[in-house]
Amino acid sequence: MALREIRVEGDAVLTKVCKEVKEVTPRIQDLIDDMIETMYEANGVGLAAPQVGILKRIVVIDVGEGPIVMINPRIVAQDGEQTGDEGCLSVPGKAGCVTRPNYVMARFFDEEMNECEVEGEGLLARAICHELDHLDGHLYVEKVEGGLHDVTYEVEEEE
Ligand code: ZN
Repeated sequence: MALREIRVEGDAVLTKVCKEVKEVTPRIQDLIDDMIETMYEANGVGLAAPQVGILKRIVVIDVGEGPIVMINPRIVAQDGEQTGDEGCLSVPGKAGCVTRPNYVMARFFDEEMNECEVEGEGLLARAICHELDHLDGHLYVEKVEGGLHDVTYEVEEEE
């Protein structure tokens, strides 16, 4: 596995619509493994393939319950509303208030291309919506209410 460079706002790759994945080739599996490693290294809760410069419909999410790999994901149900701060590894050092559904159900394929379903509430619902937006070339900053503000992350020393 290897770390990949995270593309930041202003990079045209973040504005493009990603293509569906037809099969998980060794190259795609490497990409998925690298995305997970890159997400953890950056202390993110999610990462979408375009954020590492690859226009494929793949996202990885971990809200603290282990990694979820979602290939060709789509939201099939949503309910409720939550409003809160959101950030993005492609918009470093910033956060902004975004309203999202409080519940979503998503269908996707796993790394063996089995069709799966996940239900998420709260942070998981927010992360799914945020990451899926990346696959269609959208950043959360388009949905921010009241502008962006600076955030300082506390960096934990890990040994
Ligand atoms: Zn993001």
